[in-house]
Amino acid sequence: MTALALHLWQSTLVLIAAWGLTRVCRRNAAEIRYWIWLCASLKFLLPFSLLQQLGDYLGRSLPAPITLAPRWIETGSALFVPSIDGVGGLNHSVLPNLTTIAITVWALGSVALLLRWLTQWLAMRSMLASAPYLPMDLPIPVRVTAAGLTPGVFGVFRPVLILPRAVMRELSASQIQTVLAHEMCHVRRRDNLTAAIHKLIEVAFWFHPLVWWIGANLLREREAACDESVIEDGHEQVVYAESLLHVCRLGVTARFAGVAASSGGDLKQRMTSILSPERASPIDQPRFALLLMTAMALCYGPVLAGVTTGAARATSDGGRIIFEAITLTSSEPVWWRDAKFDPAGRLSLDHVSLRDLIARAYPDSRVNGDPELIDRVYYDIRASWRSDSEASERSVYRELLKNILRTNSNLQLYVKQGCDIDCAWVPGELVAGRTYL
Ligand SMILES: [Zn+2]
Repeated sequence: MTALALHLWQSTLVLIAAWGLTRVCRRNAAEIRYWIWLCASLKFLLPFSLLQQLGDYLGRSLPAPITLAPRWIETGSALFVPSIDGVGGLNHSVLPNLTTIAITVWALGSVALLLRWLTQWLAMRSMLASAPYLPMDLPIPVRVTAAGLTPGVFGVFRPVLILPRAVMRELSASQIQTVLAHEMCHVRRRDNLTAAIHKLIEVAFWFHPLVWWIGANLLREREAACDESVIEDGHEQVVYAESLLHVCRLGVTARFAGVAASSGGDLKQRMTSILSPERASPIDQPRFALLLMTAMALCYGPVLAGVTTGAARATSDGGRIIFEAITLTSSEPVWWRDAKFDPAGRLSLDHVSLRDLIARAYPDSRVNGDPELIDRVYYDIRASWRSDSEASERSVYRELLKNILRTNSNLQLYVKQGCDIDCAWVPGELVAGRTYL
């Protein structure tokens, strides 16, 4: 739940930033504001924590200096238990009642929205089934309907233009041309696809009021973008404004799912901007730089933060680590490995050899002499530990390796710093030396 709260909080901040950017670009093309809102919408699908995890992975993969430890002589308090019962009691994930209720309410809301969407879509499909085709010189099929709709494009991947009979009858040829130009703009921009994506986001985050606000903004800006496109194509502003008014008067404003209709958005505002002699100004350098910098900060910021913390976690010593329980059970030599590292003090590894452990503890190391023993035996390992301070993943693996080697084999691990060529190999011993890349 904490991760979800963090995601919602971050997405809301991005949304507020998006609103600020659209205000900065309010005199520019609607297309720009549309993309800003769309990015704010898509942010709900991409938690920053994913980017951070990517950075964390990259950070931990960076070559890190190996602490010089010529010989390990410490005594540990490791306890080896010949079964995996030692990890019992960890499974305490019984959901509290409150969480169950919250999840149920969320699921009910999402299902209700999906059902509403599906019902509207089916209604549209059945209406289309009886609508005849109208041959027109357009890139998508046109179908005529007697239903009280406004003209619109239905369908995401195979769009169909729906033209109500009343519109064909009442509008002049030049007015119909502007309506068609508007609808073709929606087709070109693939507005039904982005609208469907945002609808899915609404289904998943219906409880967040600002997600609905994004939807309203997307609708307004996509209509404004197509209005601007119609005027830029050379259609007369007055003719276009008249046709829009006609369309709205004739049709009950359709709110069917998957239809980008020509009568969407705030009509008064649209009329004002269509009839205004001012056209949207092209984006200037400072605004472009601002948009670019914001986009880069949003994309690279979390990754860089992850790299920094990942590298710090990988190299930090983290104080003394004491294992409370380690259980080793022999495992099948299979090709896949499974490792779950919980910084709270739990570790679970499946099907690992000693070589795998060495690679985890010393990622840039090699094992001199390649003793066969380290590849021959596979383990499932469960371990729990405590530490004075936050233990890095790498240092936990080093301690674990040390404990296992000391207690379960006659092998010892020597770590030598910077030995690339002249690492002396003593039979019966492992030497992990760092190779410089
Ligand atoms: Zn439209």
